[in-house]
Amino acid sequence: ATFKDLGIVDSLCEACHRLGYKKPTPIQEQSIPLALQDRDIIGIAETGSGKTVAFALPILQALLEKPQAMFALVLAPTRELAAQIAQAFEALGSLISLRCALILGGMDMVQQAIALGKKPHVIVATPGRLLDHLEKTKGFSLRNLRYLVMDEADRLLDMDFGPILEKVLKFLPRERRTFLFSATMSNKVESLQRASLKDPLKVSI
Ligand code: AMP
Repeated sequence: ATFKDLGIVDSLCEACHRLGYKKPTPIQEQSIPLALQDRDIIGIAETGSGKTVAFALPILQALLEKPQAMFALVLAPTRELAAQIAQAFEALGSLISLRCALILGGMDMVQQAIALGKKPHVIVATPGRLLDHLEKTKGFSLRNLRYLVMDEADRLLDMDFGPILEKVLKFLPRERRTFLFSATMSNKVESLQRASLKDPLKVSI
């Protein structure tokens, strides 16, 4: 299959080709058509499988259809992973003037508040700092969020982000799509899934 076969529009196929992605990886082949059908997804896949592109492409395609600030939030367990995810969004979004903000712990809150004030389409964040902004940064709201991604959910929970995720979820609209990616399934991941996804389809590779 090609990205076009999976339902990806030309501008994003072009971005993939420029990045040297000749054809979709197995996790992309499985999850992209479901995501484009507007379903919540649990993806069981390791880093290296191409999972970032698997969730980024459907989000960018939905954004192209109905552009809006604060369209998607991606939560990741570590600063390194969050930075990689933001880089992937920026690379794929370079042809569609995507605005992406990276919100990490340990960095300057004021600078981040300014970045959020510029109305990014996509926010990639570590959970603790994102919650800080939701609670403290004036004018910052995710009330109109359309997509939530929790990446490496097993690691998010192993690092005890569970209570923070619970609080973050309270700031998000219930009417949204949610993608949960995890290398492994566990009881903790299952309970996060029940708390945050609606009638999800599971893909694993
Ligand atoms: P990830 O699993 O998201 O960490 O991705 C692992 C690596 O695979 C990243 O460096 C991506 O740039 C690369 N990648 C993602 N999708 C594809 C693809 N369809 N073909 C080739 N490389 C890809």
